[in-house]
Amino acid sequence: MALINLITSMMSNETLQAVRGMNDILPDEAELWLWFEEVVREWLHSYGYRNIRMPLVEPTALFKRAIGEVTDIVEKEMYSFEDALNGDQLTLRPEGTASCVRAALQHNLLYNAPQRLYYSGQMFRHERPQKGRYRQFHQFGVEALGFAGPDIDAEQILMCARLWQKLGLQDVVLQLNTLGDVESRQRHRTKLISYFLQHQDVLDADALRRLHSNPLRILDSKNPAMHDLIIAAPGLMDELEDDALQHFSGVQDILKQHNVKFEINPRLVRGLDYYNRTVFEWVTTRLGAQGTICAGGRFDGLIEQVGGKPTPATGFAMGIERLLALLLDDGMTLPKSRVDIYVVHQGELASQMASRVSEQLRDANLQVILHCGGGSFKSQMKKADASGANVALVIGDDEASAGEVSVKPMRGGEQTRVSVDNLSFAISQFIKQE
Ligand code: ATP
Ligand code: MG
Repeated sequence: MALINLITSMMSNETLQAVRGMNDILPDEAELWLWFEEVVREWLHSYGYRNIRMPLVEPTALFKRAIGEVTDIVEKEMYSFEDALNGDQLTLRPEGTASCVRAALQHNLLYNAPQRLYYSGQMFRHERPQKGRYRQFHQFGVEALGFAGPDIDAEQILMCARLWQKLGLQDVVLQLNTLGDVESRQRHRTKLISYFLQHQDVLDADALRRLHSNPLRILDSKNPAMHDLIIAAPGLMDELEDDALQHFSGVQDILKQHNVKFEINPRLVRGLDYYNRTVFEWVTTRLGAQGTICAGGRFDGLIEQVGGKPTPATGFAMGIERLLALLLDDGMTLPKSRVDIYVVHQGELASQMASRVSEQLRDANLQVILHCGGGSFKSQMKKADASGANVALVIGDDEASAGEVSVKPMRGGEQTRVSVDNLSFAISQFIKQE
């Protein structure tokens, strides 16, 4: 028995790896994320959007109901499981809109005012991992709940254009379409089914399966063998009601007033069932097949479907990994974190003083690394150099008993010895505070 235990424990000593398609973001790269998140938050606040944070796990029924049973996400991409402790059916969120709407309803946020909300964080989809496609990825999502007019659709698109400009991204193209409303989609659906029925021999297995459940999604297929068939399929535009047409031209008018270029793409249908009217995607050709960096549209029916009163709404989400990949491809360099001061010290009195001085400098908003772990002055100075700090403070018992500190500028300049009382002034010339 003891032997078996020993063998088992030796075997379990192999190094464990992260789950495939779920990435660690290491400190150097995390600098870029922090910078990006700050830019995005500032931008969102400049349009009056407020932050909301939902759980990563929701009842599976929420996504089935909101996203639709016959969609890629619900059919094959969700991490769903039974909570072994109570038998609940749960899912790691594959997107944020359903959760955001659930939260807004649960807490009565839409009672007497519309809401501009945003969230960010991890999403989970069991897809085949490749560049720009992961099983855990991150989005910023934006939802305007309770707004009916084309003005808010256009504002959200203008927002995106402003963000690309802020980030210095140039070659992202806006694709735009309208999906109309329920009745026109129903008429279009009937026409599509009979059209595809006449050409069943050309349909692939996915398309055949969706023929009666979700024929609109066939238009989204990337299968080259079905390309010509899809091009010639009956168009939704011919079925649109006046209201939907007016809404669509309202959106376009505002975009034109602001010189935002767009391409109308009648085959843009989006992968989730809840969209109606305006849908859009921002696409680049620089990330291969994973070129959509931001996508969204109107979802007037969703709030009612999740259990609320009928309420119009529109939103979009952007994939952070893809956006950062694009920025890096543009030659963007990683911002470096700031360390102002590295404190080296030796001797008991010196160490006590070093700790006290470090706290005082942090009171003055400086970023201070206090050397931990002992070692010679020489080896501590090597660490000070590697830290990127502008200044090293050197404190031995000699300095400590005199109430002084040696200030060593790391990028040229004389080492000086100053009284602790004058320390902030003495080092201020070496540190540019942002
Ligand atoms: P795709 O067509 O690339 O599968 P999607 O239509 O499934 O995208 P949405 O649900 O609209 O994507 O999500 C919005 C954005 O989130 C996408 O435009 C993309 O930037 C990002 N995104 C979606 N899925 C992934 C993923 N698996 N890995 C990384 N980013 C993703
Ligand atoms: Mg997808």
